[in-house]
Parts: sequence; structure tokens; C-alpha cells
Amino acid sequence: MRSKRAKAYRKAMHFYQQTFGFHEPYQVLISPDLVLAAVEKKVDIKQTVQDTLQGQVKFYITYCGICDVRKESEFKAQAISVSKTFEKRHCMHKEPVPGTQCIEELIGDSNKNNYCVAAQSNELRAKLRGIAGVPVLHMQRDIVILERMAQAAKETSEKQLKRKLSVSEAEKKLLRVMKKKSIEEKLALKKNKPRKLKKAKGPNPLSIKKQTKKQQSKTSESSTPSSTSTSTSKSNPKLKSEPNAPPIATPKEESSLAGTKHPHPQSDEAPSKPQNCTVTDPANADQTKHKRKRKRSRSKKSESTAETS
Ligand SMILES: [Zn+2]
Repeated sequence: MRSKRAKAYRKAMHFYQQTFGFHEPYQVLISPDLVLAAVEKKVDIKQTVQDTLQGQVKFYITYCGICDVRKESEFKAQAISVSKTFEKRHCMHKEPVPGTQCIEELIGDSNKNNYCVAAQSNELRAKLRGIAGVPVLHMQRDIVILERMAQAAKETSEKQLKRKLSVSEAEKKLLRVMKKKSIEEKLALKKNKPRKLKKAKGPNPLSIKKQTKKQQSKTSESSTPSSTSTSTSKSNPKLKSEPNAPPIATPKEESSLAGTKHPHPQSDEAPSKPQNCTVTDPANADQTKHKRKRKRSRSKKSESTAETS
């Protein structure tokens, strides 16, 4: 057998397995006319059919078929001996009918038992092609050929595929129920959730005005005692060494300082005299100089008037 044809037959049998539930060993019904044709051409039916289907095969012949084989013919004896190698298939006919008719009735409308049919009769084969899921075989010269898939078989396979892919009515109902449930659950959750109250978190930092430069300078002037601390730090070497030391000691701190013995007495006195030691501005220094000069001149004048008097 050619490899192409073998591949096509294998593919076809795979299709019958997938769509109609065929399986090995394949059951093949042999019609009496094929037995006679095989005997005539001296073909081993069993071997050739097995080669075509490429799998294990069980051969059946109906009682009506056996009756047909036994009828008077040229190859009667050989045909009877061949038919005896097949299994007998009971049929419902009390009076024997033609073998092809018996097979046709056995297959029925749906081929429930998944039979393959090997027949030579054109009439029978044409009828079987109209039924979905019946692999039909016939002999051509000395080869058994598996006929092409019938249109009916293709249509049924397409229908089956559609059924598999589509959503069934029961599944649709389930989906509807599940959707309803999910919606109800969401609504219930929304109802049960308490509303969160917003808390005030102080003024918005972007809405507050920034401090102007004038305000900053005013604040610096008002904090003059800080300059006294510099003087104290100058006077006290210990404080100078500590850069992070607080400039002015608070009353509490002062009391604590008084408790501890301090080596330098000036450090305690320093904060109490802030006026003597702060002239950093050069303009202010000039003013003070002028004042002193005036004072001196006034005092000199008063002394001279006293002497003259
Ligand atoms: Zn019968």
C-alpha cells in the first residue's frame, strides 16, 4: 500500500474514533458478495482488510449472509470455507433475506454498534454513505479500499464540535444565577459599609503666608540677649569650647548652675549685665563717641565756671 493512502486511512479511522467512538478491534461486517469476489480473485480478505484499517479487526458474517454464500455458484465450496472463519452475527430474520438487506437493517439509522461494512454491492454502499459514522470498504482488483468519508459523517462531526464549543442551556442558567448572586452581594456590602468622617488636620500649609524679611529682622533685634551670650562665651573659655551651649540660661538652669560649683564667677554675672557689652553696629559706636566727647566738654566747662566763680 502506498504511504499516502495508508496515511489517509489512518487519519480517517482516527476521525471515526474521535467522533463516533470507534475503537480496536474494529468490527467489520462482511457481505456475501465480497466473499465471493475475494474467492474469485484469490485474495486473503482478512489480511487485506487489516492492512487497510491498520489495526486489529474482528470479522462478522450474518446468518442471512451465510445462506447467500451457500447458494449455487462456481466458488461455492471455497466461499463456504472462508465464511466459516468469520464470527456469526445473529440477525432478527426468521426467514433468510438477501445478505445486503440484512446488513442494511443491522446498521439501521445510526450504526449503534460501530460496525465497518465491507461490501461489493453499489446499492448497499450508496445507502450506507447516507448514514453518519459507517466506514465502508470495497474491493478493487486485489485491494480493499476504505471509501471517502460520507458528507453525513462530516456534518455530524461539525455539529458535535459546535455542541462542544457552545454554551448549553443549563450552563447559561447557571451563569445567570451566578451573576445575580454577585450583584446582590456587592449591594449588600455597599449598604453595610459605614461612611468615614473626614477629620480636620490643621491648616493647609500652602495657605499660610511666609514670614517677610522685615519681620525676621525685628525678631532678631528683639532677641538681643543672644549677643550677651557671645560676650559671656568670650569671657568664659569653658563655654566657648562648647558650640551648642545655650546662649541664655533659663531661671531653672540658673538655679541648677548655682547648685554646681563653677570655677569662674563672671559667667553667672554675665547675663545680668547685657547693656555694657553690645556695640556691634559701627554707626552706633560713632554716636556713643560723640556723646562721650560732649559729656567731657560739658564737664570741662562746668569745672572752668566753678574756678572762675
Ligand atoms: Zn438476517
